[in-house]
Amino acid sequence: MTSDNSSASQNGSQPPPPPAAPAKRLVDSSKNPDEPFPLPPEELFDAGDETDSKFVSASATLGDIGRALINANDAPGGAFYHLRGAKIIYLWKKEGGTRAGRTTLGKTSKPSGLLQHFAGADFIIWLAADHLRSLNAGQPASRFQVEALLFHELKHIGVEEDEDGPNAGDARLVLVPHELEIFYDEVARYGAWEDSIADAVPAFEQMPLWPDAGHGGEIKKAIEKMQEAVGEGNSMTFSAGGKSATLPGKSKPAAGATAAGATAAAAEARRDRGTN
Ligand SMILES: [Zn+2]
Repeated sequence: MTSDNSSASQNGSQPPPPPAAPAKRLVDSSKNPDEPFPLPPEELFDAGDETDSKFVSASATLGDIGRALINANDAPGGAFYHLRGAKIIYLWKKEGGTRAGRTTLGKTSKPSGLLQHFAGADFIIWLAADHLRSLNAGQPASRFQVEALLFHELKHIGVEEDEDGPNAGDARLVLVPHELEIFYDEVARYGAWEDSIADAVPAFEQMPLWPDAGHGGEIKKAIEKMQEAVGEGNSMTFSAGGKSATLPGKSKPAAGATAAGATAAAAEARRDRGTN
């Protein structure tokens, strides 16, 4: 990260300023990351049709962001270098549904056969309008959250080289799974016991938590509940993956917070954020 304040330390008498808190930024810097995303209303999916269409085009909304994300990362070595020429269709889905009890916020698929012929696209990405309308405890997803979700879905498109056969060396776009699949309890107990978890540590170490927004707010609340359970003057140390952190206790507010409350709050914070 670059700092505009570096000259402040040149007089020698002042310690260098602490690094500035990371700022949320969008690929379209003219937009406010924290404002609600203009999501399609439910009526749009049922407007004047007999077929109760479940999808509407999102080319002008999600498509613009998706294309901008690709363009911003299309240099050699960039996250979306391989997507420079890809044809991707962007859709809103009326209802995202659930899978194994987890809400599905979006999905990336690779059409084949007839669908590919008629869609004329390499990939189709849809985001769930219903889940995004109530993503933040009933409040709509922000522009920042929708862009992050689109980035996630685009990351599901990877590239693979044919190793042999007549087309050896040709690159093909393929669907790729998540880089990390874990249970929180597994990491709390066994730490970075295999490479994919260890590889994630640097990403988590530089992760901003956005404490006042969305999921970050839930985590912050859970931490406060735990601090109340530990109690003022006490502390609790957590260890995982060879690292540890100490949580200082805090006095309870008027209504007694309990360890059970902390557990419930933590469970709430873990509430599924599933996306395909
Ligand atoms: Zn995914």
